[in-house]
Amino acid sequence: MNNTELHRLLAKQISKYLSEDYLTHEKFQSFVKAVNDSYLNFERDKELFEHSSQLNEKEYAEVNAKLKKEIKQRRLSVEKLIEAIRSLEVQEGLHTESLDSNNLLSLVDFLQIQIDNRKQIEIELRKSKEAAEQATQAKSEFLSMMSHEIRTPLNAIVGLTYLMQQEEMSENMAENLKILQFSTDNLHVLINDILDFSKIEAGKVELERISFDFKQLISNIKKANQVKAEEKGNKIRLMIDDDVPNVVIGDSLRLGQIISNLVSNAVKFTRNGSITVELACLRKFDNRVAMEVSVADTGIGIPLEKQALIFEKFTQANSETTRQFGGTGLGLVITKKLLELYDSEIQLESEAGKGAKFFFTIELEIGSELKNKASEGSNELLNENTLKGVRILLVEDYPINIKVATKFLERWQVELDVAENGLIATEKHEKGRYDVILMDIQMPVMDGYSAAEKIREVDSEVPIIALTASATFTNQDRAFIVGMNDYVTKPFNPKELYQKIAKYSFRD
Ligand code: ADP
Repeated sequence: MNNTELHRLLAKQISKYLSEDYLTHEKFQSFVKAVNDSYLNFERDKELFEHSSQLNEKEYAEVNAKLKKEIKQRRLSVEKLIEAIRSLEVQEGLHTESLDSNNLLSLVDFLQIQIDNRKQIEIELRKSKEAAEQATQAKSEFLSMMSHEIRTPLNAIVGLTYLMQQEEMSENMAENLKILQFSTDNLHVLINDILDFSKIEAGKVELERISFDFKQLISNIKKANQVKAEEKGNKIRLMIDDDVPNVVIGDSLRLGQIISNLVSNAVKFTRNGSITVELACLRKFDNRVAMEVSVADTGIGIPLEKQALIFEKFTQANSETTRQFGGTGLGLVITKKLLELYDSEIQLESEAGKGAKFFFTIELEIGSELKNKASEGSNELLNENTLKGVRILLVEDYPINIKVATKFLERWQVELDVAENGLIATEKHEKGRYDVILMDIQMPVMDGYSAAEKIREVDSEVPIIALTASATFTNQDRAFIVGMNDYVTKPFNPKELYQKIAKYSFRD
């Protein structure tokens, strides 16, 4: 047959039953072609079918393997989830033992309960945090109020004790007054420490940036502790590195407080020994200086097991301490917290019976030379005549305080006028001329803040110094906001009052 390739079965049949002549017949040829096509189509369909079924089996196996893997993975994940849930703290009444990895719905329910539970805990925590904050606020308000209440009578006791000591008296009386002064001094320190501590704890202490002479500060601290040290047979030595800059910028008051605490402790716990205060320059860089301050003594020392404890509030190394040495156990806590504000940490090396060394590093900006040294050199102002003729208006309602202040002020030979409340003060200011106004804060009729505000409306010049019984920063800030120039906290230190009056009366 021309050109057409015959299916092998058809070709076989034809060659078996038919001779070549049949194949030439036209009609027969188209018949054979039709049969041949059918054969070929059948063969192709069969082949396709076989191929496709083979293909499905392979794909099926692949999909199956994948599915198995996924199921295994899922079971593992669920088991891990259950394990994680079991490690969680679950609400009372819920049990994790019954969790079933085949029951996803129960797992979801369980987690939902847990989440609701957590949310509830979170709400309660937030509520307790708010309550704690309110309690702290109430505590500091209470302390501020109490401090005022305690300081007002204490002011009178301190002042009168001081004045009585200046008079002629019997030895016995002098001894009693000395004890009275010791007790009031202690009470004063205690109140200041408690207030200071609560202020720091409430995060209300901010470091000031003042140019000051660090070496001078340390030397002043030595002088302030000299008498006590000598009484106990102690020597205080200063070792100051020549490289320490003359002027640094920082909070001289707070740094002084930190070093004073350490030095007065060293004096307190040492007898017939020595106290060495060292200021070493570690490095200078970018206009900054890093220094190490250390206070070492040869006193009673602190046993290792007590060393961490003494930095806790109201804790002393030995229960005998208060009886023997006094103190509140707040000094080192305050020291530690103040140093934290400077990103520094107080360190201690000590052994019982072998003295103690407290030290820390501090990084400060280097300042330029101080313009004048009036603030430190104000001792020369202590000449008793320098306040002669200074016109002062004392605004104070508490009769005993008026009496105490009057006694001091008269001794300094000032020209004194008294106003018993803020309103009288504004009236007196309108009529008279004063060099300085000493303004109490809490008074009947018109308080010190309002009186200062009223005076400032008409007079921006006259110096107003607040006499405040509460030493909280908010009160001091308020004094500045209403236009007062300075403040002295009560019970006032006569020297401080004197210096502040002198500072404002003699400035040009
Ligand atoms: P306070 O001195 O008011 O008791 P501090 O917080 O300043 O409180 O000190 C806590 C305690 O640490 C002291 O009571 C004392 O036991 C111990 N301590 C502090 N400094 C020294 C020191 N230099 N030598 C021996 N013990 C010290």
